[in-house]
Amino acid sequence: ATPTALLVGTGRGAQLGILIKGPQVLESTRRVDTIVLDKTGTVTTGQMTLVAVVPTGALSEDELLGFAAAAEAGSEHPIARAIVSGARDRIAVLPTAESFQSADGLGVQAVVDGRTVLVGRPQWLTDHAAIAFPPELAHSLAACENQGQTSVAVAWDGVARGILAVADTVKDTSAAAITEFRRLGLTPVLLTGDNETVARSVGTLVGIDDVRAGVLPAEKAEVIRALQAEGRVVAMVGDGVNDAVALATADLGIAMGTGTDVAIEASDLTLIRSDLVAAADAIRLSRRTLGTIK
Ligand code: ADP
Ligand code: MG
Repeated sequence: ATPTALLVGTGRGAQLGILIKGPQVLESTRRVDTIVLDKTGTVTTGQMTLVAVVPTGALSEDELLGFAAAAEAGSEHPIARAIVSGARDRIAVLPTAESFQSADGLGVQAVVDGRTVLVGRPQWLTDHAAIAFPPELAHSLAACENQGQTSVAVAWDGVARGILAVADTVKDTSAAAITEFRRLGLTPVLLTGDNETVARSVGTLVGIDDVRAGVLPAEKAEVIRALQAEGRVVAMVGDGVNDAVALATADLGIAMGTGTDVAIEASDLTLIRSDLVAAADAIRLSRRTLGTIK
C-alpha cells in the first residue's frame, strides 16, 4: 500500500473513533484471525456493584463489610471500588487501614484495627495464609458464582470471616460486536482472571465458547504466545494494568479509551468510545484500505 493510502486510512480511523498509533499498524490489523477479549471493563462495563454480604458465625454484615472495605480502600480494582462504595452506602464511619499491600490478580492485604485482613480469591487466601473454608461458606461462594457474580473471600487473624459478591454488566454492544468479528472471519476468545463459572456465563451472553478463566496477570501474555505458536495472528483487546504485557505481545494490541494509561501505551489502537464494535470497524477499515490499493 502507498503511504498516502495508509494515511487516509488513519484519518478515516479517527472519524470512526479509533486512534491508530501509526500508519504501519493497519498492515498487521489486516492479517488478524483471532481476537482475544479481556472480560472486566472490555466485554463488561467493569462498573461493579456489591450484591451480597455473607458473614460467618456471629459476625454482622456491617462488621464484615467494614473490615473488607477498609482493606480495599487502597486498591483501584473494580471489585475494590464496588466494595468500598457499597460499604459507604451502609456504614457511617469506615475503619482505616495500615500496611496496605496488593497482590495483582489475587487480592489485597491490610492491617485494620490491629487485625491482618485479607480479601481476594478464595484459593489465594488458602495458598497465602492457609485459610480453610467451612462448608456453608463454600456453598455460598458456589451459589453466587452460579448466578454469574464474582465472589471474593474475607479473612482475618487466620480465620475465614465471610464472602462478598459483586456483579458486573455486559456492555450493550458486546454481543453485536462478537457477531461482527465472526462475520469478518475472526475467532473470539474470552480471557480473564475471574473464575470459570462467571467467565462462562459472560461467554454465553455474548456468544464466545472459547473461555480462558482464572488466568493470572503474568499468564495473560503466555496465552497470546500459545495462540501465536499455533500459527494464529492475534489481536488482544483490554483495558487494565494486568492486560498491558498481553497487549504488547499480541500482533495487534487494542486498548479501551477508558482503560489505564499503561494499557493504552502498550497498544497499537485505542477505541475512544470503549465500544467493541469499533474494533470490528478498525479491522474492516484496514482490509479495505490495504485491499483496494495493492
Ligand atoms: P480480570 O482479568 O477479569 O480483569 P483480575 O486479574 O484483575 O481480573 O482479577 C482476578 C481475580 O483476582 C478477581 O476475580 C478477584 O477474585 C481477585 N482480585 C483481584 N484484585 C482484587 C481486589 N482488589 N480485591 C479482591 N479480589 C481481587
Ligand atoms: Mg479488564
